[in-house]
Amino acid sequence: MAIPFEQMNFDRELAQLEKRLEQTGQVPSVLLHSCCAPCSTTCIARLSEHFKVTVFYYNPNITDEPEYAKRAAEEQKFIKEFKAKNPVDYLEGEYNPKLFFTSVKGYESCPEGQDRCFICYRLRLSKTAEVAKAKEYDYFATTLTLSPLKSAVKLNEIGFEEAERTGAVYLPTDFKKKNGYLKSCEMSKEYGLYRQQYCGCVYSLRHDLKLK
Ligand code: SF4
Repeated sequence: MAIPFEQMNFDRELAQLEKRLEQTGQVPSVLLHSCCAPCSTTCIARLSEHFKVTVFYYNPNITDEPEYAKRAAEEQKFIKEFKAKNPVDYLEGEYNPKLFFTSVKGYESCPEGQDRCFICYRLRLSKTAEVAKAKEYDYFATTLTLSPLKSAVKLNEIGFEEAERTGAVYLPTDFKKKNGYLKSCEMSKEYGLYRQQYCGCVYSLRHDLKLK
């Protein structure tokens, strides 16, 4: 009997693939969408053991341009400093916050982790899937599943839908498993990375300010 999607263990799916790659010695390529350097730390560390990773910094949701640039610079700094087993490259998508504002119109006041965020996840994953297909990566994935504030079920559901739409192959993950988030905090400290205090869009900034 098939396991319902919401009960799937995405981390185990990845672990099983890693085991197969270890046995065959294959090193496939993955286009890894990244939201920021701190979240990418443990994801890159794990995936680069078995994959050639290209970090895809595509985040039109970061509505403040200096903040966007700061996070992009931190991402590149980490990739340069991290000693990976397999090659890790960097690719940056177009920065177009207007596209984000148009996409989430009508959802501005949604609480974080709900409908506005689902649109935002799809915006980033759809582009990642399109680029992965066009550039013939073996897989695409996202660092977003590291965050304890983001639903891995929703993210993986969108990932699979975008794979079906584009013909790219989605790599299911749940990077928060095995203390992934905690490890990312430790690695960020170790590499002296800038850790932002809000998710990315102006609405999350307002939400965070209200909490202080
Ligand atoms: S809170 Fe984060 S995930 Fe949600 S819409 Fe804003 S930037 Fe996107």
